[in-house]
Amino acid sequence: MRDDRSGLSPRRWSLWTLPRLPLAYVLVIDLAAVVVIVLSLTTARSDEGWTVAGLLFLGAVVHAEAARHIERIRISKVDRPFIDLKSMWTFAGLLLTPAGPTLVLVCATFAYWWVRNGRHHSAPHKWIFSWATVVLATAVAALLVPHVQLDTLLRVAAGPSGLVLIAAAACVRWAVNHGLVVGILLLMSSDRALRRHLSSPADTLLGLGALALGATLAVLAAASPWLVPILLVPVIMLHRGVLVDQFRQAARTDTKTGLANGAAWAEVAAKELVRARRHDIGLAVLMVDLDEFKAVNDAHGHLVGDEVLRAVAAALSAGVRAYDAVGRFGGEEFVVLLSGVDPTSAAVTAERLRARIGEIDITVTGPGGKASRVRGLTASIGCAPCTRPANSVDDLTAAADAALYEAKRAGRDRTVSAPLD
Ligand code: GH3
Ligand code: MG
Ligand code: MG
Repeated sequence: MRDDRSGLSPRRWSLWTLPRLPLAYVLVIDLAAVVVIVLSLTTARSDEGWTVAGLLFLGAVVHAEAARHIERIRISKVDRPFIDLKSMWTFAGLLLTPAGPTLVLVCATFAYWWVRNGRHHSAPHKWIFSWATVVLATAVAALLVPHVQLDTLLRVAAGPSGLVLIAAAACVRWAVNHGLVVGILLLMSSDRALRRHLSSPADTLLGLGALALGATLAVLAAASPWLVPILLVPVIMLHRGVLVDQFRQAARTDTKTGLANGAAWAEVAAKELVRARRHDIGLAVLMVDLDEFKAVNDAHGHLVGDEVLRAVAAALSAGVRAYDAVGRFGGEEFVVLLSGVDPTSAAVTAERLRARIGEIDITVTGPGGKASRVRGLTASIGCAPCTRPANSVDDLTAAADAALYEAKRAGRDRTVSAPLD
């Protein structure tokens, strides 16, 4: 996870600035992970599984070193909490060693990865939370798989019950981890639509792919440990594969606001238009332009202006439904595609979005470190409902732009709808 690296001293962690509910959630999860580790260590037999866990840790170290350049690009680009490829090593540990050594392996790989890859990008408390979710997910999955010894794993894996057991452990491990992460994303966001916080299909596939590799690794290690290094080649390949998806996503995303960029928005809008036509549902395009935005830049500097743009992007996203699409058209202009609306409700939504922009009230640090408050923003919106089946996205965007121009001409701070012809 990226962003607020707020120093290594726990007292300065941005964790403490979280609202009460997310803070309690994070602390409970972290504490539960510690309790689980202590319990599993106090019940662990001292001689069992430690050598295997140690060897798996060595494998994870080689993996971390080989994938370091990839991880550095990955972590610094987009915030994607769902991809944890080192989980293949800990999942192999889950299948091969008792809970005690497995959980210590989780701790060791997380600590190593953080020191080598995460330290410069991620706040320690976020990393700790991530670690805690993996500890708990692993512990729950371990309840399902009473650990199998190296020699018995091969016997279990030889029959269909082995497949069921390993698949069930992987699914539980993934689902618990994913559920805990989605929990904090939901609590931290004003957007309560669960769908928007779930991992994408591509990320889900990667997460499960890492666990599948872990299962393969465990069986291979049980059958012929000397062949394990061969597996590192597809592992690094998979790791590189993450970047391809990431670059594709980056090419569609406006880096300043995190919204879809103009081209990506137009692509989504075109698809939505086809769908709307097929199901005979209404649709509208809004063009939003902040009023006198140059004055915000002039008063506070462009960096503050950028922060305001991010706040506007968040307000627009939070103000529409999950299947509406918000994009940054360019500069301080945003486009919104509303689906399932008639001309009247489109205009009502536009007014609601303007009200949300008006509610923005942020304290920013301007040039010279001076804190100041930005509020009272207004915006003008051009609203173009789709009135003919032949309308294209370009037609609607042009009509919304013309209506926006009218709104500016009429004195700003208003919505104007394009004429229904
Ligand atoms: P109005 O729309 O009400 O006519 O006035 P305005 O001041 O908003 O004028 P206009 O839309 O023409 O100008 C857009 C301004 O937005 C110009 C530029 O300073 C600012 N701007 C555009 N892109 C960015 C950006 O990425 N970051 C920041 N900070 N400012 C931007
Ligand atoms: Mg403007
Ligand atoms: Mg403008």
